[in-house]
Amino acid sequence: MSLEAESAAAHTSGMTQTDATRRITHWIGGKAWDGPAGRTGTVYDPATGRAAATVDLASAAEVDEAVAAAKAAAAGWQATSLTRRTQVLFAFREIVNAGKDEIAAAITAEHGKVLSDSLGEVTRGLEVVEFACGVGHLLKGGFSEGVSTGVDSYSIRQPLGVVGIISPFNFPAMVPMWFFPVAIAAGNAVVLKPSEKDPSAAMLLARMWADAGLPDGVFNVVHGDKPAVDRLLAHPDVASISFVGSTPIARYVFQTATSHGKRVQALGGAKNHMVVLPDADLDLAADAAVNAGFGSAGERCMAISVVLAVDPVGDALVEKITERMAGLRTGDGRRGCDMGPLVTAAHRDKVAGYLQAGVAAGAELVVDGRAVVPDGEAGGFWLGPTLFDHVETGMSVYTDEIFGPVLSVVRVGSYDEALALVNANPYGNGTAIFTNDGGAARRYQAEVQVGMVGINVPIPVPMAYYSFGGWKSSLFGDTHAHGSEGVHFFTRGKVVTSRWLDPSHGGINLGFPTQS
Ligand code: NAD
Repeated sequence: MSLEAESAAAHTSGMTQTDATRRITHWIGGKAWDGPAGRTGTVYDPATGRAAATVDLASAAEVDEAVAAAKAAAAGWQATSLTRRTQVLFAFREIVNAGKDEIAAAITAEHGKVLSDSLGEVTRGLEVVEFACGVGHLLKGGFSEGVSTGVDSYSIRQPLGVVGIISPFNFPAMVPMWFFPVAIAAGNAVVLKPSEKDPSAAMLLARMWADAGLPDGVFNVVHGDKPAVDRLLAHPDVASISFVGSTPIARYVFQTATSHGKRVQALGGAKNHMVVLPDADLDLAADAAVNAGFGSAGERCMAISVVLAVDPVGDALVEKITERMAGLRTGDGRRGCDMGPLVTAAHRDKVAGYLQAGVAAGAELVVDGRAVVPDGEAGGFWLGPTLFDHVETGMSVYTDEIFGPVLSVVRVGSYDEALALVNANPYGNGTAIFTNDGGAARRYQAEVQVGMVGINVPIPVPMAYYSFGGWKSSLFGDTHAHGSEGVHFFTRGKVVTSRWLDPSHGGINLGFPTQS
């Protein structure tokens, strides 16, 4: 590790300082930024409720510094051979893999999810790095010999230049890693704006890039909120924006950045339905509903938040889900619990507000998460797993993305009724069907208007070599993350038509060229 990187590591990792005096600042041009703090935010440990650090919130001028560093590095990185780029990616893969416990600990300390879940997200992010290690293959173009006499044609894909990534709090490592391995492998320079709620994972990844030998300036991190985002969306030297977050902000980001001429993929919110057909194994379906509903305290864009129980499975399914919920342990993610706290006190209060609203609207509150006794400090942002039954589609617990540990059961009479509800939903991120009927499952995969479908798989997150993304209000833009669509997003095509002149090519002819 370089001296600069070492001092940055001490500055940002939080291993030596654990109180709110720890300052998390930007990573620009291969080192921690040493400018004065302007506006700052507070980063909390959600399991204690205490402030853990302050984070710099970038001004437009600080974003400009990061973009300038990226721009200065981009041309050299684009000109770096595929072999060398691949070596850096392989080194990064090894360093992240060796350091994944450190990243996971930082995620749990700021996000609150349990350690095993934090480790899982780093592993899923690493899959994209492994995919990007094949960049030599991924960037291969086509070649056609002799498209006309003595004329060849071939296609190449080139990087965009400086690309911006804006990520949400719920996957502080994995979501940025959906994008930056592919972007960097393809020869771009990156400015990442992670969530200001849990910024440390991005800093650890920045240090790991430096350790892997990535040239300074190819990967930059600016922390911040709306002013930083707005500057990235408008900056003339930023060629593209990859955004992940809630639907209103995704829509705003898409509209603003495209109005500035940028290529944009903006992934938004979700309301994922799990359909349980009468022939399903109800024990396995109940296991899946609990795992997918309450993992990461429901703060996953692929969490199941609605179970559509097709008659007559409702009573038995609710009973089985309730039995399983009784065994869940909510508490500090470092203590081996099943579920951690919510990310902030404000978010916990917002989610708890939906419990009140659901009861007022007439839903049956089967398990009340407000009664939870956590294995953690009293000041933590606690809310236990919650189950509503007999939810109606007009209730806010059904219509809104709650993004917390709240599972709603809606009783439906038939497969057709279930399908109609899923397709009427404004979101289209993920869905699952539980059945042993192959014909029904096949019909669902064809008819459902959702981007990612699980058949007896409750959280169908695609592997890195497929692309991740939803439909409708879950994604603005037409390109999903990673896989071949990611490679496409971070490159643009060029077609070359070439001939090596000989005397037979001479003569004047003003006609439009056609094959000969
Ligand atoms: P968010 O929309 O509040 O924030 C996302 C990013 O936008 C952050 O970096 C934040 O700093 C920035 N931001 C917030 N308000 C802004 C504003 N007014 N103007 C400009 N930028 C702003 O989302 P979140 O709470 O961090 O994350 C949870 C949301 O993300 C959920 O809705 C979840 O479904 C969604 N999500 C979607 C996917 C997906 O793949 N579709 C994946 C993960 C999370």
